[in-house]
Amino acid sequence: MSNFEWNKGFTIDFSLLTGLSTKAESSKRYLSKVASMFYDTEAAAKMIEADDELVYEFYELGAPENAGDLAIGSSILYPGKVGDEYFMTKGHFHTILETAETYYCLQGRGGMILENPEGDYSFHELTPGVAIYVPQRYAHRSINTGSETLVTFFAFRGDAGHDYGTIETKGYRKLVVDRGGVPTLIDNPKWEGTV
Ligand code: ZN
Repeated sequence: MSNFEWNKGFTIDFSLLTGLSTKAESSKRYLSKVASMFYDTEAAAKMIEADDELVYEFYELGAPENAGDLAIGSSILYPGKVGDEYFMTKGHFHTILETAETYYCLQGRGGMILENPEGDYSFHELTPGVAIYVPQRYAHRSINTGSETLVTFFAFRGDAGHDYGTIETKGYRKLVVDRGGVPTLIDNPKWEGTV
């Protein structure tokens, strides 16, 4: 996609990227495609049978894959739960693990779980106006703990790439579930790592 003047500069209205933009096509993740990341697979299967909901979508604007460019886009995570586990994104490391990233929350309420290969993890709340700095070496996953769509803007170095496979294979150490209306971190019963 090259609607944008990567070598000359451009502006973009990110309020238009919350599903209304005609400038870019989003990538969509329906529940049937991401069901295995939720721990309550029975609840997921029932939901898919009733209605294969859109869990999240994201816009990547096709930045050149150079160290000196910035990959930017937006993530749009819908409210919902599978059992008591909030809707979330798949989460990823970067192919170049030593890559930091920043997200800025535009709308909604939720958070992000960070986790590095050595087992350090943390959960950070996101509300409109809050930015998060994701350090090098940390996988990151967004979680919508609210009743509105969670919209974030992100930026990271253009050649960093995405590694989704590690999370798909091992899962995350921690999950965020609803315990009486309070987002609570629990151990992931499906985690398959060894560290
Ligand atoms: Zn990232």
